[in-house]
Amino acid sequence: MEKVIKKIQMVDLKSQYEKIKTEVDVAIQSVLDNTAFINGPEVKAFQVELEKYLDVKHVVPCANGTDALQIAMMALDLKPGDEVITADFTYVATAEVIALLGLKPVLVDVIPDTFEIDVNAIEKAITPKTKAIVPVHLFGQCADMEAIMALAKKHNLYVIEDTAQAIGAEYKFANGTTKKAGTIGTVGCTSFFPSKNLGCYGDGGAIFTNDDALASKIRIIANHGQSAQYIHDSIGVNSRLDSIQAAILRIKLRDLDTYAFARNKAASFYDKAFANHPNLKTPARANFSNHVFHQYTLQLNGVDRNAFREFLASKEIPAMIYYPIPLHLQKAYLDVRYKAGDFPVTEKLCATVISLPMHTELDEETLKYITDSVLEFFNK
Ligand SMILES: *Cc1c(COP(=O)(O)O)cnc(C)c1O
Repeated sequence: MEKVIKKIQMVDLKSQYEKIKTEVDVAIQSVLDNTAFINGPEVKAFQVELEKYLDVKHVVPCANGTDALQIAMMALDLKPGDEVITADFTYVATAEVIALLGLKPVLVDVIPDTFEIDVNAIEKAITPKTKAIVPVHLFGQCADMEAIMALAKKHNLYVIEDTAQAIGAEYKFANGTTKKAGTIGTVGCTSFFPSKNLGCYGDGGAIFTNDDALASKIRIIANHGQSAQYIHDSIGVNSRLDSIQAAILRIKLRDLDTYAFARNKAASFYDKAFANHPNLKTPARANFSNHVFHQYTLQLNGVDRNAFREFLASKEIPAMIYYPIPLHLQKAYLDVRYKAGDFPVTEKLCATVISLPMHTELDEETLKYITDSVLEFFNK
C-alpha cells in the first residue's frame, strides 16, 4: 500500500487536535451540558491557571488580542494626541489600536538579526508627548525589556507588551532572574487566535498586569465600563473570552511548554541544515530571551524570493511573507512624517524575509524533506 503523505502546512492544527481530541471533546461537551457559555467556571479556572503559569497577579481574559491592546491603552487613560512608540515591523493590530484611539503611532525600526524593536531608535523617538512604548515580542522571542524598562522609567512612560506571538517566552535579566513575556511592562497583551502558540478554536485574548488598580480598571473597561451591575462609570467595550474557548485553552496551556519544545526542535533542525549557507540567514537568538518560535523566518540574500517561494510551492511546501509591507508604507498609515527609506532595516526585511512551516507536529522526515527542498533550489 502506498504511504499516505500528510500535506505540509504552515500550521497543522488538525494533527495537534487529534492528540488531545478526547480531552477537548469532553471539555466542550461539558460546557454544552452546563450551558454557562459566557463567564462560566471554565473562564475563571483558565484565568487562575494562566496567572500561575505566567507568575503574574492578574490575567483578564478578553475577546481577542487586538481588543487586549485596545483595552490596555484605554485603561492607561491615554489621551488623543499622546504619542505611542511601536515597531514598524509588526502585525498591523499593534498600530491599529493606537490610531483607533486617536493616539499618535510613532514608528521605529527594528534590529536586523533578531527582528526585535530597536531600543536606540525608541530613545531617539521619545518626545515630551510620548506616553507609552509598545514593544512587540516578534516571532516568539522577547524584545530587550530590561533596556526598554530603563528608558520607560527615565522618561516616565508606560510599557504595553504585545506578546501575541511569544506567550511562554522568558526574558532573562542581567542579574540572571527571568520573567515571562508580557509580565514585565506595565501591562501585557496576548492573543489566542488559533495559529498562535497558545491558540483556541476561535478568537480569544488576554491582558496581564501585576498592578491591582490597573487590573480592576481593565476588568471594568472590558465589561462595558460597568463597576457594579448596571452602574457605568466609564465608557467601555464588550470583550469576553467564551467558556468553550477557555475550556480548550485550559487543556492546551498544560502542553504549552511541550509545544515550545517541539517548535525549538524544528527550528534547530532548520538552523543546522541552513548554517553558513551563503544565501540564507537563519534567525538569530537574542542572548536575553529564549525563543518559542511562533515563526521560523529566514532572510534571503541575493535570492529571487518569488521564484524561491514558487519552487517550494511546486514541492507542496507552503512559505509565508511576514510581513511584506512596512507599516509606514501601508496606505492606512501613510503619514507626512514618514517616507520610503526612513526605516531601512524594516524595509529590507519586508523585501527579503520568508517564513517556513512552523508548528508542533513537524516530524524529522517532513523537516528533512523541507530542508532538502530548500537546498535543492540553490543547487538546481
Ligand atoms: C495576532 C496578533 C495580534 C492580534 O491578535 P488577534 O487575536 O488576531 O486580534 C496583535 N499583535 C500581534 C503581534 C499579533 O501577532
